[in-house]
Amino acid sequence: MPGKNLSREEAQQRAGILAVDGYEVRLDVTSAPDPAAAAFRSTTTVTFRCSRPGASTFLDLLAPAVRSVTLNGRALDAATAYDGARVHVDGLAAENVLTVEADCAYSRTGEGLHRFVDPADGETYLYTHYEPADARRVFATFEQPDLKAPFTFTVTAPAAWDVWSNAVHGNVTTEDGARTWEFAPTRPISTYLTAVVAGPYHVERDHYSREFADGTVLDIPLSAMCRKSLAPHFDADEILGVTKLGLDFFHERFDYPYPFGKYDQAFVPEYNIGAMENPGCVTFKEDFVFRSKVTDAAYENRANVILHEMAHMWFGDLVTPRWWDDLWLKESFADFMGSYALIGANTRYSSAWVTFANQRKAWAYRQDQLPTTHPITADIRDLEDAKLNFDGITYAKGAAVLKQLVAYAGSDAFFEGSRRYFQRHAFGNTELADLLGVLEETSGRDLKSWAAAWLQTAGVNALTPQVTTDAEGRITELAVLQDGEVFRPHRIAIGLYDRDADGALVRAERLEVDVTGARTVVPEAAGRTRPALVLLNDEDLTYCKVRFDEESLEALRTGLGDIGDDLARALAWSAVWNLTRDALMPARDYVALVLRFAGQEGNIGVLQSLHAQAKTAVDLYADPAWRGEGARLLADGALRELRAAVPGSDHQLAWARFLAQTAGGAEHLGLVRGLLTGSARIDGLDVDQELRWALWLALAAAGQASDEELAAELAADNTAGGKRQYTVCLAARPTPEAKAAAWSAVVDSDELPNALVEANIAGFALPSHRDLTALYAAPYFKLLERIWSERTIEIAMRFVGGFFPIAQTDEPTLAEADAWLDGHPQAAPALRRLVLERRDDLARALRAQACDRS
Ligand SMILES: [Zn+2]
Repeated sequence: MPGKNLSREEAQQRAGILAVDGYEVRLDVTSAPDPAAAAFRSTTTVTFRCSRPGASTFLDLLAPAVRSVTLNGRALDAATAYDGARVHVDGLAAENVLTVEADCAYSRTGEGLHRFVDPADGETYLYTHYEPADARRVFATFEQPDLKAPFTFTVTAPAAWDVWSNAVHGNVTTEDGARTWEFAPTRPISTYLTAVVAGPYHVERDHYSREFADGTVLDIPLSAMCRKSLAPHFDADEILGVTKLGLDFFHERFDYPYPFGKYDQAFVPEYNIGAMENPGCVTFKEDFVFRSKVTDAAYENRANVILHEMAHMWFGDLVTPRWWDDLWLKESFADFMGSYALIGANTRYSSAWVTFANQRKAWAYRQDQLPTTHPITADIRDLEDAKLNFDGITYAKGAAVLKQLVAYAGSDAFFEGSRRYFQRHAFGNTELADLLGVLEETSGRDLKSWAAAWLQTAGVNALTPQVTTDAEGRITELAVLQDGEVFRPHRIAIGLYDRDADGALVRAERLEVDVTGARTVVPEAAGRTRPALVLLNDEDLTYCKVRFDEESLEALRTGLGDIGDDLARALAWSAVWNLTRDALMPARDYVALVLRFAGQEGNIGVLQSLHAQAKTAVDLYADPAWRGEGARLLADGALRELRAAVPGSDHQLAWARFLAQTAGGAEHLGLVRGLLTGSARIDGLDVDQELRWALWLALAAAGQASDEELAAELAADNTAGGKRQYTVCLAARPTPEAKAAAWSAVVDSDELPNALVEANIAGFALPSHRDLTALYAAPYFKLLERIWSERTIEIAMRFVGGFFPIAQTDEPTLAEADAWLDGHPQAAPALRRLVLERRDDLARALRAQACDRS
């Protein structure tokens, strides 16, 4: 089996001589409901020109069997033309027609054409997911983003099914219990953006129309679908409502009519990522169909993702990065637009920038401090590099930098630049210079130094205030210190906060300054009374880590929760978390802050971050000698706040879930069991199905859920979600046998679907079970290369990240990781990157523990 990788050079060579006029792809998935059928028939006819007749090239295809290859009417020997990953053809003419007939495999891993059988009713569902390069698992293709072409799909499927693709369907004919759907040709799009969704999906329809200044009317049919068994939980009205607001917003800002005809949004099972922007046929993870109560943060997140994908219809689908180096050209924009449009499109999610500051940027800060960080414009040598680059830099840091660019160049220039970009590059491919070009035109600024500082260098700066005062407590000098490997220009607001009459910390002054070198003096501050709190980067204009002077830190210790402004408070929370991660604040101090102030945190998304971070602080960053006490404190705090929360509120649910995650002692576990059996009640708390599973997990992890009880819960919730949660619970039992079974289920067989691989890892790897899982560290390192070569990259990534012995926070484990890295310089770079990152997480935990111990 030759390599499945494709290098940037190969893609450049191919694009240098080829132009693709169109694909006709015929798929026959009538066998899908038969679990014994492993493959489906795929026939691709691609029409393309070659500027160097006589040259050779190849198509990408990952298929169990190729039946025939025909080039310009000449049958080639499939056995020699196909090497397991590529179909090689030579003797190209100036104009070519190539047909490849193959048997392609139904996927269990969410890559290619995924097949899922619903345990609730036995129905089979299919959908495709390709980015960056899995279209080749479904049809023969030139798998690179800059060989765009119109695609014409024809799909034969069981007669009772519906089928969707990027374009609208035309003729549907029925024969022998199967229906054949003929779809219209798409506009020219990249291979990774094509899509097919097929099955007995539940569908809700609507439409959007818009009249333009010239009197033309654009009508966009809308639909939203999910599995039939989820239909009772499907709030399509809310989804389609956000969709229409988004279509209004993007048409106003982009001034380019939506180019892909109709807009379907499919919520599909066992989806590997949040969503994918297939033109006209967006796919989402079905966790966005909420079958139990979730907090408003989940609704906000879903709306954000809907708008993110919609922004891609222009940034990404209409205009596409030439190669994965410029992935940020679409992902940073879409990530920025997700938050920007939540506000701009007048959705009900008004705290989008608080969420962005608190959660998206935390992702970026983490990623940017790993040894593997990279500039926003990355160097992507091949497809494995590309796969790993869907990361916190490409998305969240890029979005933060664009937010800053909007502040720097102005939103008018930014959107006028976007409009020119779409007009100039519609249905084409672009690089960094194409974007900078239009933005320089519209802003009148030279953006090269801005791009060099922000897009072409890696790393995050920390900004620290330095305050000196006179005997009367007046500021004699306020300076901002910048550290980091590269000094960048930061436009920041500085908030000076004092207590008001009610005790709230409120902003008394706002100063706006340009921070440039290592030390920037803020002259306007001199002569003012020293405030209680100096908050740098107030309003979150720039991308940096915020530090405090000693007095400000003391003000936070006694009053962080008293900061009245949601965004300022979220920034303060984010800053103290960064201090903890950087071993500058003991983990137990961070935990004390959370226990003291989380109960008064009004923003539900921020509260849920605090829960996750406080748990990480105890599990990984605290001195092991204090861990037990820390865990007890968290559980006590959760119980106290659960009882105090407003009945029926989101906050009450979040605290109940936090109790389930932290429960350890008899009192907590007793309440957990009581909530499950009904012998205990908390006013207003609905113990619905998802909460029940969270509570069962607490009991299972403590060894207090019997096999019969877990099986009975599954019998009562025989659904996809139930099966996943049940698997987590089994793997979370604190016995050597349970851990061995979970490990073996993932390692010894590749039969498990992606969702159950993830469930097994989640249950196996509970940090509190570190004594039970310690013996798996050695086999983990031994297996890395084998798993990387044998499994698909999606599954291999989960193995590498999920089974890394992060819970063994000790020097010997760090030494083991180092020994593997030293001993495997030739391992796949993408594998080394993942191990290096986890190794860095471990080293960070050890530093934080040392800080907590001191
Ligand atoms: Zn995206």
